[in-house]
Amino acid sequence: MTEGEKPGVDVGEADDIQVISLGDCPICGGKGTLKAMQYIHEIPYFGKVMESTIICEKCGYRNADVMILEDRPPKSYSVRVEEEKDLFTRVVRSKSGTIELDEIGVKIEPGPAAEGFVSNVEGVLERVRETLLMTRNFKKQEGDEEAVKKVDEILQYIEDVKGGKKPLTVKIMDPLGNSALIGEKVKSRLLTQEEIDSLSLGPYVKVEPEEGSEENPESDS
Ligand SMILES: [Zn+2]
Repeated sequence: MTEGEKPGVDVGEADDIQVISLGDCPICGGKGTLKAMQYIHEIPYFGKVMESTIICEKCGYRNADVMILEDRPPKSYSVRVEEEKDLFTRVVRSKSGTIELDEIGVKIEPGPAAEGFVSNVEGVLERVRETLLMTRNFKKQEGDEEAVKKVDEILQYIEDVKGGKKPLTVKIMDPLGNSALIGEKVKSRLLTQEEIDSLSLGPYVKVEPEEGSEENPESDS
């Protein structure tokens, strides 16, 4: 088991940490071993974000997600990364967020293994790089030289972006409004109904939020 996960939680002081017992673990059946830890962070010029991590003390299962605690409409955010400082554009990605890296054709979509995180563009590139390295090994074993070459090209492009030599357009869309890019150069617009319908919700189905008394005006269509 490799755990190359960086915390990426550098959003200032956690002003509220809560541990909630969730009972039995659905994965290993451990009795009362499942816990949720919730942190609320205040991101300057943005607002409050709650990070939650579910952990099983017995089997080590863990899963993280984030939720924006302000009432935000579903938007598409984009930023053109052109120089090194743009790499520090903040990324809040919930499980229902889709990230697109245009120039390298990489799309991070919601799925069963999707994790929510608060990081920055550099952190996202690092995640992508790790995934690409795994793909590369796999393709190498398969003897698919063409795929290996393609992966190498993308890896090189990522290095160039990190060095401020090549541009990268980073986009994030979330039909639930729980993901965002935060930074000076970030542009945003409301998602169209068509886009909302076509985006995956990841593990979420349309239900009330579990916690709190958020009043999301839900239009039943
Ligand atoms: Zn377990």
